Amino acid sequence: MEITYLKSNQEFEDFKNNEEILVVDFYSTECPPCEKLAPIYEKAAKIFPNLKFLKILRQDFRSLAESLGVSGSPTVLFFKNGSLLEQRLAGEIQEAELVNILESISGEKALVVENDQKIREYDLCIIGNGPAGMTAAVYAARYKIDQLLVGDLPGGLMTSSHKICNFPSEIEISGMDLSQKMAEQVNALEVPQISGRVELITKENNSFILKLFGGEIIKTKTLLIATGTKHRHLNLPKEDSFVGRGLSYCATCDAMFYRNKTVAVIGGGDSANTASLYLGEVAEKVYQIYRGDSLRGETAWIDQIKANPKINVLYSTQVLELLGDDRLSGIKIDREFEGSNELLIDGIFVEIGSEPDLSLINQLSLDTDRGHYIITQEDQGTSCLGVFAAGDITTGSDSFRQIITACSEGAIAAQSIFKYLQVNKK
Ligand code: NDP
Repeated sequence: MEITYLKSNQEFEDFKNNEEILVVDFYSTECPPCEKLAPIYEKAAKIFPNLKFLKILRQDFRSLAESLGVSGSPTVLFFKNGSLLEQRLAGEIQEAELVNILESISGEKALVVENDQKIREYDLCIIGNGPAGMTAAVYAARYKIDQLLVGDLPGGLMTSSHKICNFPSEIEISGMDLSQKMAEQVNALEVPQISGRVELITKENNSFILKLFGGEIIKTKTLLIATGTKHRHLNLPKEDSFVGRGLSYCATCDAMFYRNKTVAVIGGGDSANTASLYLGEVAEKVYQIYRGDSLRGETAWIDQIKANPKINVLYSTQVLELLGDDRLSGIKIDREFEGSNELLIDGIFVEIGSEPDLSLINQLSLDTDRGHYIITQEDQGTSCLGVFAAGDITTGSDSFRQIITACSEGAIAAQSIFKYLQVNKK
């Protein structure tokens, strides 16, 4: 079934009252997890043809979103016979969680989409389409390597930076725009691409067999792992349940929900610093909670934070507890501030860095350091012959995890793979 884009509040009431099951995706522009959800949501509409799927641009229906308790993008709500159900999904939504809820509320099984089971073969498969993967794809295209680029969001984590001021040739650019520019170059070079995620990798003789979430099977002579990292969580009780209910991992996506409100940003690196500055433009007050005694990262951002009267940095402070029942209403910290160890806030932004996703690393038994980053050689090769790695997931570039160093590793990897393929013609 086709997805409907909401045009009026009345239309929403009509769908709610007339459809047995209504699924609603509140999305925003400038929202990387919303873009990631879009193909998953489209697929869901196809495999559950009896349910009604609606998309609502939050910026155009602000009060409707507020009345339904939506405070993060994307948020997916479910209605049955006119009533809002308790289940809801927010933030980085996975296909499996959406399908599980749809099956449970509808009592229907998802339709099985017939896949073309023909195995496609390549000389190189790049997994991950952030700056490392996209740069490698550009170089591989120039080397005329028979390649495939697999990824679920062009730009990856870079898309969540609202302002980038240290990428050569760009005085100031948003992460979304820089990602878009890189993606345009990859598209112009006609690099074959699949939007999706790799689920399984096995080694078979001198090749690698990849199974994607959609069921496609790929065979490749070499692999470049450029999957970057995922947001680190505080690992506090209730953290998952507050996502989209006052807790966010993406300031660019959700800052607008906190116009003239009080928020806290957790962390003391560039992600936290830039999030505080961005929130400082819309919120009334920003507490930046940092466990160390002086902020890390670029001095230019730190100077702007110190000069901003709306931002109050609480140093040597840790969050002990997330407060609230259905929605986050405050945080408990490990010291007194203005006579209390509880801060009443409308929302928190967790910006405490990121860590590698271990699933593919473990499947290939790659050597990693203690932080689980893939150990790479000068040529970006790994402990497994034919497997290369580039970008934030590696120990390369002196662990200086920047867009420019990810691009550099991607370029080096592509050249190494070119040489490797020349020697290992099969
Ligand atoms: P970082 O690892 O640099 O910083 C993470 C911060 O979170 C640190 O201050 C760390 O504290 C704190 N932290 C980690 N774990 C916890 C925890 N469990 N509880 C409380 N605090 C915690 O990650 P970033 O995402 O900030 O940056 C990653 C890279 O990306 C950097 O190289 C950065 O320069 C780059 N970047 C650049 C941007 C830009 O230029 N626009 C924007 C964002 C990132 P501690 O300091 O004590 O270790």
